[in-house]
Amino acid sequence: MARDTTQLAVLGAGPGGYAAAFYAADLGMQVTLVDEEKNPGGVCLYRGCIPSKALLHVAKVMDEARHASAWGVSFGEPKVDLNKLRAFKQSVVDKLTGGVGQVARMRKVKFIQGRATLAGPKSMKIAGAGGDTELQFEHCILATGSSPTRVPSLALDSPRIMDSTSGLELPDVPKSLLVVGGGYIGLELGTVYATLGSKVSVVEMTAGLLPGADRDLVSVLQKRLETLFSKIMLNTKVVKVAEEKNGIRVTFEPGGPDDPGGPDDRRGGPSGPPSDELFDRVLIAVGRRPNSKIPGLETTGVKVDAKGFIETDGQRRTAEPTIFAIGDVAGEPMLAHKASHEARVAVEAIQGHRAVFEPLAIPAVVFTDPEIAWTGLTEAQAQAEGLDIEVAKFPWAAIGRAITIDRPDGLTKLVLDKKTGRILGVGIAGSGAGELIAEGTLAIEMGVTAEDLKMTIHPHPTLSETLMESAEVFFGQSTHVYKPKRK
Ligand code: FAD
Ligand code: NAD
Repeated sequence: MARDTTQLAVLGAGPGGYAAAFYAADLGMQVTLVDEEKNPGGVCLYRGCIPSKALLHVAKVMDEARHASAWGVSFGEPKVDLNKLRAFKQSVVDKLTGGVGQVARMRKVKFIQGRATLAGPKSMKIAGAGGDTELQFEHCILATGSSPTRVPSLALDSPRIMDSTSGLELPDVPKSLLVVGGGYIGLELGTVYATLGSKVSVVEMTAGLLPGADRDLVSVLQKRLETLFSKIMLNTKVVKVAEEKNGIRVTFEPGGPDDPGGPDDRRGGPSGPPSDELFDRVLIAVGRRPNSKIPGLETTGVKVDAKGFIETDGQRRTAEPTIFAIGDVAGEPMLAHKASHEARVAVEAIQGHRAVFEPLAIPAVVFTDPEIAWTGLTEAQAQAEGLDIEVAKFPWAAIGRAITIDRPDGLTKLVLDKKTGRILGVGIAGSGAGELIAEGTLAIEMGVTAEDLKMTIHPHPTLSETLMESAEVFFGQSTHVYKPKRK
């Protein structure tokens, strides 16, 4: 076994781990980064954010091409070459993971490909393709990420049952696809498959799609999804899946946790009889669980909470003083940009700085069409916290740019402190909302008020004007909508 020492060992090379390793190297530390994959990238680059967005880009182009006949331009029905589409997606993944690997080498970060087992608070063993290594470290950052949640009632060993990883492989375009879970992955991958030609049904156990987002934003998306998807079943649970010769037979039961009288309501039974349907394929996207069952974790003092997340303080230090944890394994929200920001805090804390992870806003973007994005407090959160807020909304149908791109289906909203006009939250539903939300995050972090946003000159004609005009709505003075301020 080879022996090696390092100042900082980073276990897991996703957007949390590689950001930590690179920043630590920039600050002059000797760093070793460990992952099972050939290059850094993690779930996000190999089987998450990046391949899904490549496919969603293609879906958007197909959708626009179809829609172009309304503008007097016809391309005919798109022909899909699945091999070429998969190759495009793979080339995107290879380019990015290869590029991150190169940047690691340029920074002199030592990358070891292999599976790590912790061996106490200052050491780990790595079983790699090129032999085993015992690595002694001064500090370690755990960034082992998360994996798809498995549900016992949906456990069936069949190639027709997919999770996000196999779904992204695009094995075929099934005639019918059931998506279990109306969250981020279900709606994004459901959009890809439906655009490619599958008849997609979505089943969601709560009362609405994307339970964490404000309902007015979701309803903009839902209107469009109702035309794209063949069925959206809310307040419904899958109770059984069984393989038949021609597909998977799925049994549904009405009633979810939000449904009085539903199966989860102890006062009564299901609010209707069960039903069943046959699907060519089923995609399960019911959430992700933290990868905290790290081999050898018990040899350290690291603690794991009831939900399986590694417990950390504001600096992302675990109960074991030499070990830190960041990213999906360290808590919600499970988003790449949250992981990479925690990475910087952990590295600075290891260097003895007074860094702390206390963001006022973490943006969330669902890359459907339209996109939904929110940052800071949602309206529902602000209400639940009993804050004295006002909500200012601007409909995209009133903005020039939305009309020029024929996408009036959008809404921009600000959640504001009623007295001071300080922006506490921003929500956007509409084409390209994911790009626009960054301005909202900056506004919240900088303590911007509606007055500041109103006075900031935004370029015309752009969708960014909807943010400025929402601020004008707060004062009852929006140029393009007539909404006098209630006295
Ligand atoms: P991960 O990216 O999960 O990386 C962890 C790494 O650790 C993996 O490479 C794993 O192999 C390695 N590892 C674990 N245990 C060991 C071990 N014992 N030894 C060696 N290596 C180990 N987030 C967004 O912000 N935007 C998006 O658009 C987005 N889209 C997504 C789409 C899909 C389909 C999925 C599944 C997720 C998506 N996410 C998105 C979530 C995002 O991928 C995660 O939040 C992010 O990858 C978390 O980063 P991380 O560094 O914590 O860990
Ligand atoms: P999710 O938490 O976003 O959605 C899961 C959905 O499944 C929820 O609406 C939940 O109510 C529902 N559900 C749970 N059990 C169910 C059951 N038995 N039957 C029917 N519905 C059920 O989880 P996900 O879509 O699997 O994604 C996992 C995580 O990955 C996300 O929470 C997010 O953090 C990350 N992600 C982010 C992006 C992005 O940033 N664009 C994209 C994909 C994934």
